[in-house]
Amino acid sequence: MKMIGIIKKNKLLTAVSLTYVFLFIAMPDKAYLSVKNSMYYIVEMLEIMPVIFILTSIIEAWVPKEVIMSGFGEKAGIKGSIFSFLLGSFSAGPIYAAFPICKMLLKKGASITNVVIILSAWAVIKVPMLANEAKFLGVKFMGIRWILTVVSILVMSYFVAIFVKKENIPIQEEQNLNQITGIAIKEQYCIGCGLCEKLLPQHFEIVDKKAKWKKSILNNEQIYKLESIMNKCPVKAIGFR
Ligand code: SF4
Repeated sequence: MKMIGIIKKNKLLTAVSLTYVFLFIAMPDKAYLSVKNSMYYIVEMLEIMPVIFILTSIIEAWVPKEVIMSGFGEKAGIKGSIFSFLLGSFSAGPIYAAFPICKMLLKKGASITNVVIILSAWAVIKVPMLANEAKFLGVKFMGIRWILTVVSILVMSYFVAIFVKKENIPIQEEQNLNQITGIAIKEQYCIGCGLCEKLLPQHFEIVDKKAKWKKSILNNEQIYKLESIMNKCPVKAIGFR
């Protein structure tokens, strides 16, 4: 039963593992090539992603929500589209590095339209690439392709925003403090590491190797501190009610 639960939670990983098993049995040479390619991407991701996560955390902690909303939010209008094109076009790194940044921007109030523009510009109109393109294929080719790409991105962002709403995206909105009525601990995930008790002993205690919430009233400052503990919990077992 426990095994079925693990498989259900990791459907994609299970499917990939089974595919590899099948490949190693049926086509070992292809399986070897596939593992080699996967290792290349894993190493590349391990080199890039820590920097991206640090950058994302810094922006999340230091840039106020209002600033993101005014630059990239629903009401940012044409200014938001221009900022989004600039952010995507001047970014560095592979496209998967853009996903955590875009998720953070969505969480902080960026619109779906502008996030699509950032992702698309990041993927296809990097400024250093444009210079290379002009050098090899000519300025006219690069210019026309760039204009048509920008138009396509704008059309795509408009339609994605019609079909995809924020509630369809798994982002944790910042909680309205007035709506918080307590703390919920998912005991099945808690590994009893004791970090929450160590950081906030007046609110948490470990009983039988599981964290328990001491029913206490929270003020706003404590709620902010709790948010940081939630992020630090290694298994993300703590949440607001
Ligand atoms: S930090 Fe998380 S895993 Fe560790 S005891 Fe607290 S709730 Fe459990």
